[in-house]
Amino acid sequence: MMQRAEIIAVGSELLLGGRVDTNSLFLTEGLASAGIEVRFKSVVGDEEADIINAIRTASGRAEVVVLTGGLGPTLDDRTRQAVAHATGRPLRRRAEAFEGMRRRLAVWGRTPTAAQLRQILIPSGAEVLANPVGSAPGFCLKWKGCVLVALPGVPSEAKQMFAVAVAPRLTREAAAQGRQGRIERRVLQTFGLPESDLDLQLRGVIPAGSGVRLGLLASPLGVLVSLTACGSGSEVNKKGDGVLDRLVKGVRKRIGAYIYAEGDETMEEVVGRHLVSSRLMLAVAESCTGGLIGHRLTQVPGSSTYLDRVAVCYSDQAKIELLGVTTHLIRRNGAVSAEVAAAMARGIRLRSRAGVGLSVTGIAGPGGGTAQKPVGLVYIGLNAGRSGQPSLIREFRFHGDRHSIKLRASQAALELLRQWLVRYGPRIRS
Ligand code: ATP
Ligand code: MG
Repeated sequence: MMQRAEIIAVGSELLLGGRVDTNSLFLTEGLASAGIEVRFKSVVGDEEADIINAIRTASGRAEVVVLTGGLGPTLDDRTRQAVAHATGRPLRRRAEAFEGMRRRLAVWGRTPTAAQLRQILIPSGAEVLANPVGSAPGFCLKWKGCVLVALPGVPSEAKQMFAVAVAPRLTREAAAQGRQGRIERRVLQTFGLPESDLDLQLRGVIPAGSGVRLGLLASPLGVLVSLTACGSGSEVNKKGDGVLDRLVKGVRKRIGAYIYAEGDETMEEVVGRHLVSSRLMLAVAESCTGGLIGHRLTQVPGSSTYLDRVAVCYSDQAKIELLGVTTHLIRRNGAVSAEVAAAMARGIRLRSRAGVGLSVTGIAGPGGGTAQKPVGLVYIGLNAGRSGQPSLIREFRFHGDRHSIKLRASQAALELLRQWLVRYGPRIRS
């Protein structure tokens, strides 16, 4: 069985609402690369009794416990004392820790203060982990079949120390116990099907006992579907990556139409790739997304080869003046309508050198909605210049706050374009 880890972030500032524990993010990734699975994370304040409690709980159910924070020189830094009390290993001044600190401070012409000397108190029997970027040394000790690691709270310091001193040690330790593990993960990005529907569609796609876990994570940009295989080295070797490949294929068979990317490629990168291979230029007219689509497209390096222009036409007047939408059309249908979306997409394409025009008009809220046209109503238009390629109009009803409606609308517009490019792009090229 692969090793289990727990992360304890220490610091009252992490409980006050202004700061969030980010150390556990790279620690989780680092532990996963070392083949160790994080099972619990906790955040505790600077109370020594609470830290002791957290250490006892964690070491009772994991083989690796990583603490960050509370190693500084001030009196509210209590991690050292807490580890000493929890494990019954009294704090001792350590020569190697003193030497490291003395040398670092000497560079600035300083000598350790009494407060700083607190930092060289290390639980007896622990190994000192040198801090190449800051003053507080970390430490690592084995206690009751568990490896306890204490790292400073400063993210850059914790990150360096984990990578240089901790990860190799943990990998070695796991191997020595014959418990080296491997974590393999595949991510499929979907848009257009709600999480609960995806869940239904994917029922039973992962056979029980395969050792692979299915995860669904929803956001305004869609639902991430992840497949994670955790196993000891031998199990993974036995099954190999082939298992995950087969399962990913099975997932694709069921929900393939909604998958826009595999891995961490973004929608705007995918759309960019398709535009390049279709040798098509794009022009965009945005109303309720306020330039978000343009921003996203231009985040991709090299987008100038396929993006001609983006116009943000927020008022009726702007739609009339810049896109040639008629007053009559707006008066008859309203600015948020299929007709206006179609005219916007056509207007921007005709006024540009693009082969395809994309438009968005909608009500992002929280005000401005009516019974017929509620907040979240969005129309997306796609105008194709040539015959044989259909122009498209879609109506969406998104929920959420203003920001998520804008995000969803931008994603839906790019997804509509992506699907169109997948379908008609190859014909355009030939
Ligand atoms: P120092 O020697 O700097 O006092 P320390 O080990 O005592 O180091 P803390 O005082 O707990 O660390 O935190 C130092 C800085 O690092 C603070 O700015 C704190 O907000 C930040 N920090 C601490 N823990 C975390 C965490 N888990 N995630 C992100 N930032 C953190
Ligand atoms: Mg501190």
